[in-house]
Amino acid sequence: MDEEKIDRRRRRVKRLKVYLVVLFLLFLITPSVVCVIAIGKLNILNTRLEELENKFNKYELTGILKAEADSALKVDEETEALSEDTEEPQLHFEYYVDDYVVPDDFRKVYLTFDDGPSIYTTQILDVLDTYGVKATFFVTGRQAASHPEWYQEIVGRGHAIGMHSYSHIYSDIYESEENFNDDLTKIHDVIEFTTGIDSRLYRFPGGSSNTVSAVSMDKLCNIVNEKGYVYFDWNITSQDATSPSLRSSEIINNVVSGIGKYDNCVVLMHDAADKYSTVQALPAIIEQILGMEKTVILPLDADTTPIQHLSVEDGGA
Ligand SMILES: [Zn+2]
Repeated sequence: MDEEKIDRRRRRVKRLKVYLVVLFLLFLITPSVVCVIAIGKLNILNTRLEELENKFNKYELTGILKAEADSALKVDEETEALSEDTEEPQLHFEYYVDDYVVPDDFRKVYLTFDDGPSIYTTQILDVLDTYGVKATFFVTGRQAASHPEWYQEIVGRGHAIGMHSYSHIYSDIYESEENFNDDLTKIHDVIEFTTGIDSRLYRFPGGSSNTVSAVSMDKLCNIVNEKGYVYFDWNITSQDATSPSLRSSEIINNVVSGIGKYDNCVVLMHDAADKYSTVQALPAIIEQILGMEKTVILPLDADTTPIQHLSVEDGGA
């Protein structure tokens, strides 16, 4: 009896042990299984999140691109509207564009810019383009090494390029005929090398009537003529060289008030780093000239009847 009792007890203890072991294992295994499942789920969620993020970025980027495209389209439309607005002043220019034939009773205005190119050349070209007019740039060689693209832009956008000495240093170029001749050759060759243009147009620094030359200007005019070049002075000055602080309204007035006096108008302006007033004045100058009856704006060429302060065409003394 006792033995049987002990035996039952042992079996109970044994069952209890088994329960405890099972219970222990359950406690141990369940969290591990849960962990494994959770990690699995976490990975799935991470992948899904990445997918969603990618999708979101794509949509957002598409949105930005669309917004950019929309604004570019808007700018195009505005530019179109602007060019439509400026079609009116271009009417006079058609005489030049179509066949170069300007009726005899038309006034011809030649806008000329000395001393450039400069930091403002591109802006001047932009204004000229806006109105569809061509001008003449009498350049020096000072910027040729550092900014050949400025010279090329003048030519590439259809304007006339003329010589205005290489150095623009009066005391040097007007010191002797030899110095003048050397400088003239230099600016001619620099323009040709930079732009491919064999320029025939010349403007003396200070004009042919300058009083600073140590050499007789007659002799220098002859040098220019003998090379087959034509020198152009001016009969209208914007006075923009008199003072950097000259207001654009004064520049506009100086030019426009002079136009009515002549049938052939060569207007002197400057393209230089301290002449921003000229850039500001240019749109109004062009608008007012184009608004005048029977008036055209043209670029100079070697066949244009020149305005010369000092004329030595007949080999004058
Ligand atoms: Zn000059």
